[in-house]
Amino acid sequence: MEIEFFGAAGEVTGSCHILRVGGRTLLVDCGLIQGGHDATRRNRLDFPFDPAHIDAVLLTHAHIDHCGRLPLLVKRGFRGTIYTNAACRDLLPLLLRDTADLAAREAERRARRADEDEPRFEPLFDLDDVERTLKLVRALRYDAEYAPYPGVSMRVRDAGHILGSSSIEVSCTEHGVTKRIVFSGDLGQYDSPILLDPYRFESADLVLMESTYGDRLHRRREDTIKEIGEIIREADQENGNILVPAFAVGRSQEILYLLGQYFDEWGLDRWKIFLDSPMAIEASKVYWAHAERFDEEARRLRETFESMPELPNLRLCKTPQQSREINSIRTRAFIIAGSGMCNGGRILHHFLQNLERPECHVMITGFQAPGTLGRQLVDRVSTVRIHGQTLHLRAKVHTVGGLSAHGDQADLLRWYDSFSGRPLVCLVHGESEPAHALQHKIDKLGGKAIVPKPGTRLDLATMTMTSGSKT
Ligand SMILES: [Zn+2]
Repeated sequence: MEIEFFGAAGEVTGSCHILRVGGRTLLVDCGLIQGGHDATRRNRLDFPFDPAHIDAVLLTHAHIDHCGRLPLLVKRGFRGTIYTNAACRDLLPLLLRDTADLAAREAERRARRADEDEPRFEPLFDLDDVERTLKLVRALRYDAEYAPYPGVSMRVRDAGHILGSSSIEVSCTEHGVTKRIVFSGDLGQYDSPILLDPYRFESADLVLMESTYGDRLHRRREDTIKEIGEIIREADQENGNILVPAFAVGRSQEILYLLGQYFDEWGLDRWKIFLDSPMAIEASKVYWAHAERFDEEARRLRETFESMPELPNLRLCKTPQQSREINSIRTRAFIIAGSGMCNGGRILHHFLQNLERPECHVMITGFQAPGTLGRQLVDRVSTVRIHGQTLHLRAKVHTVGGLSAHGDQADLLRWYDSFSGRPLVCLVHGESEPAHALQHKIDKLGGKAIVPKPGTRLDLATMTMTSGSKT
């Protein structure tokens, strides 16, 4: 039995780990590589395995960098089962159909620009591939043990990252030797709005752990709330707008939840609030239908309202026309729109209207991969290119790290610290610096952490590297 590291090894996106046990081959996640000029090419490369010979995929959650290449896997021959939980199953259609739509539009755009003799740019997958993928999904109950094959059993545990996020515990037995591996998935912050905390594990022989923010501490929640209040106050005084690029699933719901909670304190009655994303509107419905995964406070709210918490001045923009109508509003529009990393979506036309206005504010609330427009904003470049136009960045950009769906270094260490016996950790889903900073911290705790490269194999019986190299 062995693990081979393939995706999200030495980087954040494209999660995919290969687990071989008892003659079966399982994948944990099959995500899209996002950001960087090379992502399009890399997503199209052959997998280092035959998809037809993969028995099952264990899916940790519905973010695209974890599930986005599932339809490609199916297109290339995968016919096994995709195991996940019910909330993730319900979010998956939204995200995968949206990705197929974006891919089709990108292909059309390229076809318009291409010379006649150039080969046609095919989308990575289409809606048919997505529908065939969705038919393979099977939802498991959280915390219940399930044994799909002899020698393999698993449990899905809450990861507190987005609704339907999970860490997956897999027990593998081969030749009388049993090893327990915990795949962290993406781990949320403790005490984050709406969600339960990440599950507290007690033992494992091996842990694959995300390390997105392994080198930093988020602001404390109280400070984050204060910070958002100040941004709103400043924009109010300057008569500007606030733009929040947000992932449709997770961040959008958390922001709405906070706006409801602090409505009076933040003087939001003076504002018009827009959720400008059909997918975020749909995702909100799924969120609200899965109150069984909420923390106590959110559950109480859910019981009071029996629907989404009401914001009296919230407008849900489903159509492009409704989205365009926001363009005429020059002051006190609070606009939540996708995409989360600003590499597409309706947020771009709001940027065209507002980025050159010093009275406007951009609130970055999530991780921005290198190469994305969102990352350029975080890095406060002087000009950006959007839809062929060069814009001078005059709006103020705020990175509100405390709202991140990912735990910080302290959260990650707290999660690891619950394992007795300090199991070996493979740090994945992190750029080099955060991963190595976390490695250092874990070593200081008395554990042992490695940062595997793509192609590294780990023999589970002996816990030794069998190929590839560690860093
Ligand atoms: Zn995620």
